[in-house]
Amino acid sequence: MKTILITGASRGIGAATAILAAERGYRVCINYHHNQTAAEQVAGTIRAKGGTAFLLQGDVSSEADVCRMFREVDSIGPLHALVNNVGILEKQTRVENIDAERLSRVLRSNVISCFICAREAIRRMSVKHGGAGGAIVNVSSIAARTGSPGEYVDYAASKGAMDAFTTGLSKEVADEGIRVNGVRPGFIYTDIHASGGEPGRVDRIRDTIPMKRGGQPEEVAEAILWLLSDGSSFSTGTFIDITGGR
Ligand code: NAP
Repeated sequence: MKTILITGASRGIGAATAILAAERGYRVCINYHHNQTAAEQVAGTIRAKGGTAFLLQGDVSSEADVCRMFREVDSIGPLHALVNNVGILEKQTRVENIDAERLSRVLRSNVISCFICAREAIRRMSVKHGGAGGAIVNVSSIAARTGSPGEYVDYAASKGAMDAFTTGLSKEVADEGIRVNGVRPGFIYTDIHASGGEPGRVDRIRDTIPMKRGGQPEEVAEAILWLLSDGSSFSTGTFIDITGGR
């Protein structure tokens, strides 16, 4: 049985990915930050269907927490797959109102965390380090392309950094048995929009989306699981946009 670590898997896209990964036969490590109840619900759903799930509390913006979490994964089994899913955004505002503290929080959670998690995964999965190979999927955003003006250019910039990271890392480890790809969701019904101060954001924007609807977390999870699977065995450094055509 393959072991997968999904960061931020207690809610939203991460939770949907955890449930689908278990259905596809993975042993699932569910990372969460504060919401233990939500994480336990995801694990309960997986176990009720006969799957295997473990909870991993930890703040991915903390290098010490990430290192501890990966040691916990080691005690579960060899790591085969990592989904860098955590992403935060803060209240909608313009660039002239963004201070260095906010930038630091966003970049630590959205970018630095991915580097540190990927580093730990590569040390375990790379054939260069004696591993058996594996796959990494980074959950970026269509914001990397649109820039999110008037809302959160800092968040969009962090996703642009994540895409460059995906491109560079994919080439670095391509001949070490590790594939690295990204997904770029558009407007998906999750709690993240409430963090930006507008819980109804997807419905406000819905009519501007060519398919005239927002997406569901499960639709993103399908793309993530394909990029992790042998079905995408010759794809690395690539991106799937899940945006309803926007
Ligand atoms: P969400 O519903 O807000 O869920 C966030 C998840 O991340 C929760 O499980 C939360 O854990 C966890 N988390 C947050 N900070 C963390 C930290 N420092 N350490 C560990 N876990 C942390 O988010 P989502 O909408 O599913 O977004 C998932 C990813 O998709 C993000 O990278 C986001 O940028 C991207 N994305 C989302 C959309 C969208 O429309 N929803 C669009 C494009 C891209 P707790 O439950 O413990 O708080």
